[in-house]
Amino acid sequence: MNNKKNIFQQILSKKIITNIIYQDDLVTAFNDIKPQSPIHILIIPNIFIQTLNNINHKHELILGRMLLVASKIAKKKKIHKSGYRIVINCNVHGCQTIFYLHMHLLGGRQGVNIFF
Ligand code: AMP
Repeated sequence: MNNKKNIFQQILSKKIITNIIYQDDLVTAFNDIKPQSPIHILIIPNIFIQTLNNINHKHELILGRMLLVASKIAKKKKIHKSGYRIVINCNVHGCQTIFYLHMHLLGGRQGVNIFF
């Protein structure tokens, strides 16, 4: 187990205290420690999955739940109408720094269009 993976595992095991804003049987959500927008929340599976490369059909429920929870949190934070961005970074070219699968929920201000 490396340190980067440890950070999110320690959050789940409450060894690192953070503001957990949502948790159910499959996923946990908490505020990003270094927010890149006014709302920046991370949604992670409760079981360790290293990257998006490591998912299989057994993870379908978890992956679906991550999106569902992102949508629910966006509504709760009242950013659903203005809009928001969901990001999953994978490995080095994807800028993944914590090797524990996580989904970023970013909102609260106009994002930069990275595709044009
Ligand atoms: P990524 O670059 O996709 O791997 O994103 C990792 C994210 O984890 C970054 O946005 C970090 O700011 C965030 N992060 C790192 N450590 C913590 C922590 N202890 N609590 C909350 N977020 C963290």
